[in-house]
Amino acid sequence: MENEQGATSNEQIIWGFQYFCDQCDGRLEVRPTQEAAKADCLTHRQQKHGGLIPANGDRIEYAAIGRRPTPTEGSSSGGCAAFVIVATIVIAIIAVVYVSRH
Ligand SMILES: [Zn+2]
Repeated sequence: MENEQGATSNEQIIWGFQYFCDQCDGRLEVRPTQEAAKADCLTHRQQKHGGLIPANGDRIEYAAIGRRPTPTEGSSSGGCAAFVIVATIVIAIIAVVYVSRH
């Protein structure tokens, strides 16, 4: 279930905050800021629970608002991985040379 929100290499997830009420088993709209989600929380408690905390609890969680393409070219992480591979090979060669000489 969590993996549905995994981003591909050329897009990034825009994260927001979402209010959940376990009493009503409901969730409200995802908000861009935690403050807005807290406002949803207070409004919901006022309207549905007489201003009280729901008996079954409520919470604010991270939630994906949407996705957008990565603005810069996505080669930086790939280049980093390539560097690690090259470095590993170089270290392996050095180790082989060292062992063969001793
Ligand atoms: Zn509720």
